Amino acid sequence: MEELCALIRQPSVSAQNVGVTECAELVRRLMSEAGAEARLIPTPGFPVVYGEARASGAKRTVLIYGHYDVQPPEPLEAWETPPFEPSIRNGRIYARGAGDNKGQMFAHLKAVEAVLRTRGRLPVNVKLCFEGEEEIASRNFPAFLSAHRKLLAAALVYSSDGPMHPSGPMVYFGCRGILYLELTAHGAKRDLHSGNYGGVAPAPAARLCQAVASLWSGRGKVLVSGFYDRVRKPSPADRRTLRTIPFAAQSVREDLGCLPVTGERGRAYYRQLLLQPNLNVAGLTSGYQGPGMKTIIPNVARAKLDARLVMDQDPDEIEEKIRAHLKRRGFGDVEVKRLGAVPPSRTPVDHPLGKAVVRAVEQAWGRRPVIVPNLGGTIPDYLFTQVLGLPSIWVPYAPHDEANHAPNESITLEGFVNGIRSTAVALFEIAASSEGG
Ligand SMILES: [Zn+2]
Repeated sequence: MEELCALIRQPSVSAQNVGVTECAELVRRLMSEAGAEARLIPTPGFPVVYGEARASGAKRTVLIYGHYDVQPPEPLEAWETPPFEPSIRNGRIYARGAGDNKGQMFAHLKAVEAVLRTRGRLPVNVKLCFEGEEEIASRNFPAFLSAHRKLLAAALVYSSDGPMHPSGPMVYFGCRGILYLELTAHGAKRDLHSGNYGGVAPAPAARLCQAVASLWSGRGKVLVSGFYDRVRKPSPADRRTLRTIPFAAQSVREDLGCLPVTGERGRAYYRQLLLQPNLNVAGLTSGYQGPGMKTIIPNVARAKLDARLVMDQDPDEIEEKIRAHLKRRGFGDVEVKRLGAVPPSRTPVDHPLGKAVVRAVEQAWGRRPVIVPNLGGTIPDYLFTQVLGLPSIWVPYAPHDEANHAPNESITLEGFVNGIRSTAVALFEIAASSEGG
């Protein structure tokens, strides 16, 4: 706990270049004190802290990912105690980075150290790979991984980041991807008087609405030709898993303030949320939005669209299809700009090493974890599954209300300690698994 607090006291705000290099050195030292051979590997940005703890005679290698950079602490006045002075209260450590990701990352180091001290050797080789730019979109990490494929070879990537399920421990196997587009319709060179020009000037706001509306049927089905072509059918294991995720219709209804469009049933809710793609209007802007009347024809209109993609949809291909759709429907003049994309990523829920991890988490917590095929949201899991070509399994150790990226971020002491246990037991379960590469 004292060591974790020391790690937290060292700021490492990548977005503001505050303390990150110092923190990398501290993590390297903690890693080597835990028993790994640790070094900094430079990137064009902040270094990756890399370590190996080899086990003579071990057949498998586990690659553990984490990040030592944190989000900016602002707004400072919203913190009950200062962000870089860890405060222990209500069974939690409160501080910036406590949950995201220092507490979770540090649990892996303590697990390695605990096994080495009590057993003398690890049951598997462990490689530790902690980056310092996760909170600034991991901008040098893809190139780092491609350049170090051999160094990072392993049977499995094991990572702890993000919050647990509200009901307790959770294991998940990937995420939906994202494609973010901005659509712009242009009109005259300035806003125009709608009396003096109405009917003769182009009307980009209405035009953009029509273009956007053409993307869906009245029932919400995406009409972009080929949008669903590559959507993978849920495997029998996926379907079984969906049935086991706790779903309380009442609390979902309270959370949303309305009934979900999928109705009262958990299976439909999770199938739609996790295993189906979605195309959403994230923003829609044009013209006058202030009080009262202003009679103009705005000269520009913009919409932001985010598509959440599932296996085996490809962001490049989906972007092409949306562009082709707009052209075919006569909206070739609507400008399309990509603002970002991350492909979806999945490891099968019945992967043998996944079962080993689930057994480990169950032993560490004394209860079965919630198993989720993938998150509805997006994390760069494809780096592990596609760039490294490895199965990738996520076991968060921070509580569901960790307030990551927000004031009063925390990790529970229980989550930290059971996190250490989870990693330690996972190393043995992974070593003992008779299949899984
Ligand atoms: Zn974060």
